[in-house]
Amino acid sequence: MSKVVLITGGNRGIGRAAALLCSARGSISVNYATNRSATDETVARVEAAGGRAIAIQGDVCEKADVIALFDATVRAFGPVDDFVNNAGIVAPGSALSDMDVERMKRVFDTNVLGAYLGAREAARRMSTKRGRRGGSIVNVSSAAARLGSPNEYVDYAGSKGTVDTLTIRLAKELGPESVRVNAVRPGLIDTEIHASGGKPDRAAQLGVLAPLGRPGTTEEVAESIVWLLSDASAYVTGALLDVAGGR
Ligand code: NAP
Repeated sequence: MSKVVLITGGNRGIGRAAALLCSARGSISVNYATNRSATDETVARVEAAGGRAIAIQGDVCEKADVIALFDATVRAFGPVDDFVNNAGIVAPGSALSDMDVERMKRVFDTNVLGAYLGAREAARRMSTKRGRRGGSIVNVSSAAARLGSPNEYVDYAGSKGTVDTLTIRLAKELGPESVRVNAVRPGLIDTEIHASGGKPDRAAQLGVLAPLGRPGTTEEVAESIVWLLSDASAYVTGALLDVAGGR
């Protein structure tokens, strides 16, 4: 069945891989913050794979942008069936004692407030209690939520711990309203996020220490996301799925 899928931060990294894997499922809304060229490439690749796609700029920290993102998707494709709450950031590695407040606010605004605003809007648009047809939400958390990321990103780790709590709680709220809510917790995945944290080679360097002996790929995370969105996981909700090579 053709589905309407909305992915925050869908233009590159894990979000792009999810968009490409979903292209066989139907219509994809590719949200981005600033990187338009990566977005255009993702849209072109979804279309080349036979799917439909639109690009929508919007900051997940801004309530109006999040609402506009869902509105634009509905206008283009109809009601949203699947929501991938993926946009997220890290900041340069640091001990907590050296972190400034502005950095922590940026991380919590994007990863926590952004995830909550996206999930809230998805709930409003999907709940059968509100006359909608149900749906599936996948939050992109991180193995950092249980590892804590000491001396690197304890702010980021805490933000992802909150995403786990959101997942567990919202699954209970929305289960009776035909909306499933799950999370994936990627480990070390080879994307540009590590460069933004000041360590472009972090996934390669630390990935070899994982029990599976390598970093993960964006496609491997996307496979889990798409499984959690799909009817193949119809009895799964409130799950936190580690995609971390055993780390
Ligand atoms: P990435 O390649 O750096 O991509 C980040 C994405 O988030 C980009 O699409 C970016 O858009 C978007 N974004 C950032 N801030 C935004 C905002 N305020 N509003 C809208 N979009 C925003 O990172 P990634 O590795 O694919 O990460 C995706 C998710 O996986 C994140 O939640 C991250 O925490 C999580 N994760 C990643 C790893 C890993 O090792 N890579 C591990 C665990 C969890 P622009 O391109 O426009 O900036």
